[in-house]
Amino acid sequence: MQNKFQTFSYHSHTNFSDGKCSITEMVCRAKELGFSELGISDHLIVHKNMRQSPSCVVNAYMQKEPHIYCSDFDAILERFQRHCDEMRQVAKAENFKLYTGFEVDFFTYDGWLEELQDFLQKLDYDYVISGNHFLFDESGENLINLTDLKELYTDRAIYRDYLNRHFKAMAQAVESGMFKFLAHIDYARRLGDDICGPTDFWAEKIALLDTLAANNVPMEISTKGLRRVNDYFPSDNILAEAAKRNICFVVSDDAHHTSELGLNFTDAEKTLQKHGIKNRLKF
Ligand SMILES: [Zn+2]
Ligand SMILES: [Zn+2]
Repeated sequence: MQNKFQTFSYHSHTNFSDGKCSITEMVCRAKELGFSELGISDHLIVHKNMRQSPSCVVNAYMQKEPHIYCSDFDAILERFQRHCDEMRQVAKAENFKLYTGFEVDFFTYDGWLEELQDFLQKLDYDYVISGNHFLFDESGENLINLTDLKELYTDRAIYRDYLNRHFKAMAQAVESGMFKFLAHIDYARRLGDDICGPTDFWAEKIALLDTLAANNVPMEISTKGLRRVNDYFPSDNILAEAAKRNICFVVSDDAHHTSELGLNFTDAEKTLQKHGIKNRLKF
């Protein structure tokens, strides 16, 4: 990489999902920053029992946003098609390289993957990334938002079960071969160090890194972690293990606002350099 820091981002959100700014505003900011290109990856989260999830009861924002937290692919198809069209129109109007992506929560119940593939075939999109924010039971059929785990359960054995499955589901996502990269692999640190600190679930994290390496799937270092857990996603010890496996990296801001685009990219670059990570993703 010739630049001192990466001049593009493939993980960002607009007000189509839970971002705060329009596509045009994000593109204009990317141009202002001197970015060569931008990928917008709004959420695509569809699970057949999403609307019955206890998380929909405890979180008003989930009740209000049925096209983000959705039970039915068919119900959102038109809206997603319109979004893809708008992305193309903005790219043309702004004369800027804009990739249409989606951040997909990976679910494991029978039929889900086929439904996702069928849905994506009907969209004019460029890429999908795997970003996992939900936890589910053994059947995969009942789910909760990861950040609700402590509010809904107190049993530590349940935490362990849910999180074990979470890391396994990410490995399944990687093995599906569908995703350009895996986002925030230790997002579960949002639960706090008492449940998922940097050294917890270590065997599961290592297994996931091995799966990334074996399948040649890149992962991100996300500066969003700095705003959530005061550290990058992922933690330093994971970066060291990823470096040993020569896993390919992309720097992400996971920007939900124009002010977050490219945020802390210089520092992220130094962190990658510190670990000798040179294998980098560019579309
Ligand atoms: Zn995410
Ligand atoms: Zn995101």
